[in-house]
Amino acid sequence: MQEPVKSKKFNLLDYDRKGLAAFFVNLGEKPFRATQLLKWIYQEGIEDFDLMTNLSKSLRTYLNENCYFATPKIVVEQIASDGTCKWALETACGNQIETVFIPEEGRGTLCVSSQIGCALACTFCSTAQQGFNRNLTTAEIIGQVIVAQRRLGVSKKITNVVMMGMGEPLLNFDNVVAAMNLMMDDFAFGLSKRRVTISTSGVVPAMYRLTEVCDVSLAVSLHAVTDELRNELVPINKKYPLKELMEACRDNAKIAPRRTVTFEYVMLDGINDTMDDARGLIKLLKTVPAKLNLIPFNPFPNNAYRCSSREVITRFKTVLNDAGIVTTVRKTRGEDIDAACGQLVGQVEDKSRRHLKIKVMGSERAA
Ligand code: SAH
Repeated sequence: MQEPVKSKKFNLLDYDRKGLAAFFVNLGEKPFRATQLLKWIYQEGIEDFDLMTNLSKSLRTYLNENCYFATPKIVVEQIASDGTCKWALETACGNQIETVFIPEEGRGTLCVSSQIGCALACTFCSTAQQGFNRNLTTAEIIGQVIVAQRRLGVSKKITNVVMMGMGEPLLNFDNVVAAMNLMMDDFAFGLSKRRVTISTSGVVPAMYRLTEVCDVSLAVSLHAVTDELRNELVPINKKYPLKELMEACRDNAKIAPRRTVTFEYVMLDGINDTMDDARGLIKLLKTVPAKLNLIPFNPFPNNAYRCSSREVITRFKTVLNDAGIVTTVRKTRGEDIDAACGQLVGQVEDKSRRHLKIKVMGSERAA
């Protein structure tokens, strides 16, 4: 488990049930202590070891001396006109990450970050522009869910989690899988596997590994139907081209029958939105049980792309649907607070500039 700050103490939010069981067995305790502890933390919201009455006195003393709970801290909260909340959370090392809550009729989706920054350099994504700092720990990933749910209170429940915030989750495999295990564990957040989604730009070997170890919903950022264009938009395609990517998607769908893979496709004016692209998509997606989610491009500074027109997106959607591929257009949420897809930047390098921007945005809205 990766710890950003050297510490002899253990952050118990870094462990899923299996990890906790191993931790207790290592102490000469029974593995069921793991479920007891999970219940205290995630169901009762208790982090004071002295209140964990079903643990022995000596175990409580050990935990008091050697263990702690720490989550990232909310430093900025912004609420968009459509109710979307975005939080900037500060990690122990002083960097910031972003987490977004999207309320919808009958459900609430939390968009969670997996890394500080991102190494993948997709040309249309603002997270990519800040470069990569480090992987988040399991505690920092599940901590986003804990902190958000606390802040939202009981009336706004997190019913879905999408690993679609900052970073490439499959490049932080172990920590992301442990956090998703906690999201789905009945003794922790208890979300169903259909309500936990991991989105990847196509880290093919990790996709196969994921299929083996963790049964969650899979989303794939496709964005282009030829290797030539995808190499440009999603450079990891040079390493894992479309043929290999689609094979990995078929593998995932095989292991989880009745399961579809959701393909994300950002709509970029004049780049990937022609009828030839639509036909290419039909051909490609016919080879795997697929759903398609078209994402209107969300602009950000210093970027030349433009979003396809509403008419083009609608035509694209109709053509795909008519060909039997269930296609939806992602509703852009939280635009006025830069909380939409690809707009999460956190704060990796230049602290002062980012603070300034948030303040300016706040006063602009207030004005
Ligand atoms: N790295 C993962 C997780 C990010 S999920 C992945 O690539 O899947 C965020 C989704 O929003 C991805 O599909 C991403 O390609 C898309 N996206 C990034 N920048 C965007 C932008 N400016 N407008 C719309 N969608 C964007």
